[in-house]
Amino acid sequence: MTTDHDQTTKDGRSTIALVAHDERKADLLSWAEFNADVLRAHHLIATGTTGALLAERLGTDVECLLSGPLGGDQQLGARIAEDQVDLIVFFWDPLSTQAHDTDVKALLRIAAVWNIPIACNRATADYLLSSPLLDTSYEPAEPDFNAHTHRDLHL
Ligand code: PGA
Repeated sequence: MTTDHDQTTKDGRSTIALVAHDERKADLLSWAEFNADVLRAHHLIATGTTGALLAERLGTDVECLLSGPLGGDQQLGARIAEDQVDLIVFFWDPLSTQAHDTDVKALLRIAAVWNIPIACNRATADYLLSSPLLDTSYEPAEPDFNAHTHRDLHL
């Protein structure tokens, strides 16, 4: 079966998605500032508020989706499912409940489904951003969903 995953074109840059819950935004901005040179070399995409703050702090273009709770998390999930995201830095807040908790779970889930590297804290983000794979044409193995696609529905 042909999917959008067979048709992705790349311009040599990775697409890095960034999201931070309100209590984690300062941490993400500080991390991003420290890694500004690396981040500026890639295509950045973010949920609305996170993206606006990053664009200002880094002085670079950031493709801003809707604010996370207003649909931005779901927009990002769709980009992941369409193979348009290479790496995610998602500083979610482990100490607060979120009104859009279902969207948060969906974003984490779809990243796992499609085998997309995702950093949920600063240490992991450092590991990912310093990986030599970032500057190669590395493509994570695409999961085989044949069994799911062709499952017996007993119709
Ligand atoms: P925001 O969304 O960047 O628009 O604040 C983040 C989130 O998903 O909560």
